[in-house]
Amino acid sequence: MPSSYTSGDEYLAPSRIHVDREAGRLEIDWADGHHTVYDTVTLRWLCPCAYCRGEAGMPGWLDSSPTLTPDQTRLVDVQLVGTYALAPTWADGHHTGYYTFEQLRANCPCPEDEARRAARTAVER
Ligand SMILES: [Zn+2]
Ligand SMILES: [Zn+2]
Repeated sequence: MPSSYTSGDEYLAPSRIHVDREAGRLEIDWADGHHTVYDTVTLRWLCPCAYCRGEAGMPGWLDSSPTLTPDQTRLVDVQLVGTYALAPTWADGHHTGYYTFEQLRANCPCPEDEARRAARTAVER
């Protein structure tokens, strides 16, 4: 059954956030009932900070396709930033990425959302 998110980009707040450090997973339950699970490698690749993503036209660290070490993909902690974002702390000390809920929902790796993004990309072309 498609979730209510499929129609647009409306902002959604999580109703529950669970960090499973043992399994290396971040789980988010959304207010509309959708369930998102990120493995930490996927999550680290999405890091939106200026260092990872680059800024002012300069490429970021992740643009160089680095080989991520186990420490770089191991979650130590996740802090809530206001009411709009999560800030994970990684075992290598990196903690400057603020993942907005909007970004976390938009990049949800479940098959339904993969299909939705693929369809959107096709339309944009
Ligand atoms: Zn980063
Ligand atoms: Zn999803």
